[in-house]
Amino acid sequence: MNVYQALTIAGSDSGGGAGIQADLKTFQELGVYGMSVLTAVTAQNTKGVQGVYPVEIEGIIQQLDSIGTDLQPHAVKTGMLFSAEIIRHVAQKVKQYQWQHLVIDPVMVAKGGSVLLQQEALQALVSDLIPLAEIITPNLPEAELLTGISITNMQQREQAATQLIDMGATYVVIKGGHDASTSTVVDLLYDGQHFEYFESKRIDTMHTHGTGCTFSAALTATLAQGKSIHEAVDTAKQFIQAAIEDGLGIGSDHGPTNHFA
Ligand code: PLP
Repeated sequence: MNVYQALTIAGSDSGGGAGIQADLKTFQELGVYGMSVLTAVTAQNTKGVQGVYPVEIEGIIQQLDSIGTDLQPHAVKTGMLFSAEIIRHVAQKVKQYQWQHLVIDPVMVAKGGSVLLQQEALQALVSDLIPLAEIITPNLPEAELLTGISITNMQQREQAATQLIDMGATYVVIKGGHDASTSTVVDLLYDGQHFEYFESKRIDTMHTHGTGCTFSAALTATLAQGKSIHEAVDTAKQFIQAAIEDGLGIGSDHGPTNHFA
């Protein structure tokens, strides 16, 4: 039996809608065996983030080594990395174990405003991790923070994508979900040569907690199965569309998407 395997290096969301939990559920739904390296624990529910507790750096390094010295993930994703120190160690281990198909979801701030990446860690993300990425998956605010470009139109999105490729990622997909001005959500995929647009209908809902994590996890699972970037983005887009459309309606506030495929 061919067992496809993927690793997520990310934070825990106790409420189960984002982070490691969203990643592992998504891997499972897409038929991929999931592994996890926990970088931080968040106390969180549909109302927001009540606490953030980074894991001791030795504990993170040891988890990475436990996997690297025994298991062979076919694709790896990063989510909440929190600090420059964590980013540097993750980058070093990705190189040491020659992990391929690295998907970077540059998680920075939760929708409620809680900081999931310290300000001074942004530079480490750019200098140490992005050059190792097969694909980086920023939303519009993250693309703006990474590039310094204020994005209000498609030309600026293309400029930001170009800059992200210049930082060393092989592909970038800038997700358009945060632009609420249109009824169509446009995600832009760029490989340094061609711009490709993936469109979907905007769904009017407040239950979008964990959408970024779920999208990048579906992308990672598809890459782990040996599929192309184009197919992985397409699958991720369809998976997140269905997950938002069929929201579970649990919790009292911004609820999770539906990870059941
Ligand atoms: N909590 C954790 C641990 C995450 O990794 C993420 C991912 O972006 C979030 C929260 C963000 O959640 P939201 O989709 O509500 O912004």
